[in-house]
Amino acid sequence: MISHKVLIIGGGQLARMMAQAAPSLGIELRVLASPSDTSVVNLAEVVVGDYRNVNDVLQAAKGVDVITFDHEHVPRAVLEELLSAGHVLRPSLKGLELVQDKLHLREQLAKWGVPQPKWHGGPGNVRDMVRDFLRTGVAWPLVVKRSVGGYDGKGVWVLRDDSDLSSLDGVESPGWVVEEFCEFRQELSAQVARSPHGQGLAYQVVQTTQVDGICTNVIAPAPDLDEATGIAAQRLAMELASKSEVTGMLAVELFCMPDGQLLVNELAMRPHNSGHWSIDGAVTSQFENHLRAVLDLPLGSVKPTWPYTVMVNVLGVNPVDESVLNHVLAHDPGARVHIYGKEFKLGRKLAHVNVSDSDPSRALARAQHAADRLSGTIR
Ligand code: ADP
Repeated sequence: MISHKVLIIGGGQLARMMAQAAPSLGIELRVLASPSDTSVVNLAEVVVGDYRNVNDVLQAAKGVDVITFDHEHVPRAVLEELLSAGHVLRPSLKGLELVQDKLHLREQLAKWGVPQPKWHGGPGNVRDMVRDFLRTGVAWPLVVKRSVGGYDGKGVWVLRDDSDLSSLDGVESPGWVVEEFCEFRQELSAQVARSPHGQGLAYQVVQTTQVDGICTNVIAPAPDLDEATGIAAQRLAMELASKSEVTGMLAVELFCMPDGQLLVNELAMRPHNSGHWSIDGAVTSQFENHLRAVLDLPLGSVKPTWPYTVMVNVLGVNPVDESVLNHVLAHDPGARVHIYGKEFKLGRKLAHVNVSDSDPSRALARAQHAADRLSGTIR
């Protein structure tokens, strides 16, 4: 019998959707989850523990072929212990370091000559850093980011002028990145799957929309994106995947500027919110391809199965109740609902809805309606 055993560190919705993809390829999943991670219950072998605790992680890793991740917050010391114990990490330590620290990423992208927003950064006093940056000729507004530990816009501040610096009072960080505010035409995400033997496939480039740093919707493919820019984004993602020796999924978040220039904002080396559409809109989802890639299996086709697939996140406004779910399922039988099995919390990502259609505006309206009902935004 074929049997591959994978450990996922972290038990959020990404682990849940990998767990949903695993059985059809005979992959056994173990997940190291915290006691409050409810998303993977009954979907995988769950080991409850702390990803920051070396013993918990080594215990969970016993007997698995490969270790991969639902998030990028595992401390370096823990990753090094796993390597010394002979475990295989995918992505590699080198790759993970890039996505754990925004300052390190900016420095590395600069060394590689990859286009990115103008930036300045380091450890130290953030106000001095902002002043030094302004002296180089950059103008307000600016974007200030903590170098580590942020997600969904937490740890990112948009400062309109000097007076906004007070919003950073009392905030600690081992390092900072200060960036020019990019007036982009579109935010894009280019995702590739890459396996250890070097096979790489690029998904179609998508448009993402963020409100207050949180992704609200994704349109696949990105509307109004000319072919040459789309291909350039895919090439850039493939180039970054090989430079950073990624194994698994890589998402490259990009700002597409008014003149068509692409600037790299961030990288994620795991399945990513910008690829949730692929569960219902591509031959092989990002979750299945991540598992195939980390196990060095041949990758599945990334071809879209519909002209457009739109994903809308369900961000908690009210708890999802059964009658709302019934309404949504009955109202639009073509809407694909993916619930994450998480406790309700205001603003938390609780689910997403995918809708495929020949028309992107109609797909967005249908998915938005379903998501608004599920989140309790409309009743
Ligand atoms: P996080 O790691 O929390 O997701 P990001 O660096 O991706 O933080 O920033 C979150 C969002 O903030 C981005 O998706 C984008 O919409 C906006 N943003 C970040 N940096 C800039 C920038 N330099 N200029 C304009 N908008 C930005």
